[in-house]
Amino acid sequence: MNCTVCDNEGSSTMFIKNNFPIVECNRCKHAFTAYIPTPEKIREIYSDDYFFKGGTGYANYILEKNMLIKRGEYYARKVSNLVMGGNMLDVGAAAGFILKGFENKGWHGMGIEPNKSMVDFARKEVEVNVQQGTLETMDTEEKFDLISIIQVMAHLYNLNKSLKRINFFLKPKGYVLIETWDKDSVTAKLFGKHWHEYSPPATLNYFSRKSLERLMNKHKFKLVKQGTPKKSINSGHAKSLIQHKLAESKLLRLLKPFTYLIPRNLILPYPSEDLFWALYQKN
Ligand SMILES: [Zn+2]
Repeated sequence: MNCTVCDNEGSSTMFIKNNFPIVECNRCKHAFTAYIPTPEKIREIYSDDYFFKGGTGYANYILEKNMLIKRGEYYARKVSNLVMGGNMLDVGAAAGFILKGFENKGWHGMGIEPNKSMVDFARKEVEVNVQQGTLETMDTEEKFDLISIIQVMAHLYNLNKSLKRINFFLKPKGYVLIETWDKDSVTAKLFGKHWHEYSPPATLNYFSRKSLERLMNKHKFKLVKQGTPKKSINSGHAKSLIQHKLAESKLLRLLKPFTYLIPRNLILPYPSEDLFWALYQKN
């Protein structure tokens, strides 16, 4: 399998995770799961269980509501000195909370999301315009000032095709905002194969700031600014992640009973050193 970022053929296996080889490109050091999921497999991965059953997905996505709305507002502020209150598209919008945050700060727009339960929830409960589908199937005459891809890049199974679609839907000089995990971070290096983001087949691409920039440059986007977001996590989600991690090692499994002491609805500060955001502009 060729590298998505630099198209190079040679790669080395870093380790096997969930029976999938995680490999690193010999040239640009981009890491990826050497696996191309079928459309059926993708539907299976992002069924309702992904959002509601915990494990590597979300313990209960709806519990994340307030945090994700705040996150949207946070990013609206981050881009406000460059572009303010235009038409936007949120890719992998889920229940529409990020979009809602942007709308609270004067933006309008739509989201695209493959999971039907999420789409229904977004429309009925959050009252934002989220359409069911993917970038590939999306059909609209609209062009956007900003396209946001928040914690979705790792899941896209054909990044080059997706970025071509993003280019198509973006106005000239439009912006792309990406938030994703950093595989060169201290946390990622410390945890190695146990790093939370290595969870194939749901995750397929593991970026560094450098490899993301390289991919975006290839598609004629130039970096405008980047940073590390402040992050908080709902304790229910944290608990689910920790329990999932602990199940992987015999020794750590002994600690699992203690995680039941964590209450479900606390907002916990979360180390965001392994997360980054970057804003790109179309040339
Ligand atoms: Zn490469």
